[in-house]
Amino acid sequence: MNTISDQHQNSVKKNSANGSISSYRNDFPILNQSINGQKLVYLDSAASSQMPNQVISEIERYQSNDHANVHRGIHALSHRATKIFEETRKDVSDFINSKDTNEIIFTSGATESINLVAQSFCRPILNKNKKILISQLEHHSNIVPWQIVCEQTDAKLLMAPINQEGQIEMTEFIKMIDSSVALIAISHASNALGTICPIDEIIRVAHDHDVPVLIDGAQAIPHMRVDVQELNADFYVFSGHKMLGPTGIGILYGKEDILEGMPPYKGGGDMILEVKLSGTTYNELPYKFEAGTPNISGVAGLGAAVKYLNNVGLNNIHSHEKELLDYLTSNLKKIEGINLVGTTSNKVGVQSFVIKDIHSHDIGTILDHQGIAIRTGHHCAMPVMDFYEISGTARASLSIYNNTDDIDRLIKGLYKVIEIFA
Ligand code: PMP
Repeated sequence: MNTISDQHQNSVKKNSANGSISSYRNDFPILNQSINGQKLVYLDSAASSQMPNQVISEIERYQSNDHANVHRGIHALSHRATKIFEETRKDVSDFINSKDTNEIIFTSGATESINLVAQSFCRPILNKNKKILISQLEHHSNIVPWQIVCEQTDAKLLMAPINQEGQIEMTEFIKMIDSSVALIAISHASNALGTICPIDEIIRVAHDHDVPVLIDGAQAIPHMRVDVQELNADFYVFSGHKMLGPTGIGILYGKEDILEGMPPYKGGGDMILEVKLSGTTYNELPYKFEAGTPNISGVAGLGAAVKYLNNVGLNNIHSHEKELLDYLTSNLKKIEGINLVGTTSNKVGVQSFVIKDIHSHDIGTILDHQGIAIRTGHHCAMPVMDFYEISGTARASLSIYNNTDDIDRLIKGLYKVIEIFA
């Protein structure tokens, strides 16, 4: 597999939005194209980030050389595929510092990971006297699975409010925590606003009340170092396609003793030890939760993405994106008639905004005509939009491959939008 060149590694400089870290941009071949006659500017990484050559070539290498089904074969290819699969589990375990590889479950994404916890961990312990506590910042993936399981069990779903800056109202949140709460499910960072939530404090208070906590890390994991043992999170979920990896692969981290006590979520091959008509004995962790043939090439790609992020360094990524976000917000603020949505200072590289009464889809379409990709609409976070009494926002989101030229193009593009609607 290709690794990042020493030259790249040596050239990384902290706090340098347009400095040498931006040479990593060359690793992303998709950026090297024109859209509507203009060089592509990609500012939609919170929806899906792009993949570096190292990830693309590892997927191709796996598909061309090692592809076979995992775990069940005695032939060479199956051994190779299994090796890649299990080595990636170890890489992911090291990446988030889990105690054991058994705590790393491969899923199809953060959404499936949350559904797994809702159905396997929560459903058996919920009843009409129990509650699930979330916040108004959540992505629909961290709302709807709880609505479904609460409906199935007559439990209640509580949503802690947010404030004008886009932070969780912590006083209210803490007041809602008591022993009737079966689980708190909270995002590490908001996809719509970028807000980084005070999950350390939430986990600490929750544990004081013996309440377990699930952290939706989909928007945090590509941008900052996450240590699940230090956090003491009970569950932590994320997706490959937001961390420079492919789609269709995700992770559920869970503490081993908790996962041990949970029943399987899906039945099928690989999650069993013995099957008889009279009953089935389930496999041990982590296989108990991995029924059916998994997304093996997705796992291979995820492994390459983890190596890439490690090589660049999460701290370097974080400071690059922070500096770029400051550049973005300070330039957006100069635009007359703009309203920034989500203004707290502790954020990942995401900025939502509205401009006068121009529909966000019109902003997105006019930018697309100029080769600039942003996301518009409710961002699968309708309760956030309800809070601000808007139908949607335009959202620019950043990654390691962005630079100040991208921001300059966006700002220029937005002046064009305003000119058209003047
Ligand atoms: N949570 C958050 C905060 C997200 O941003 C997303 C994806 N937009 C998800 C969960 C769901 O991720 P996936 O679609 O990869 O399952």
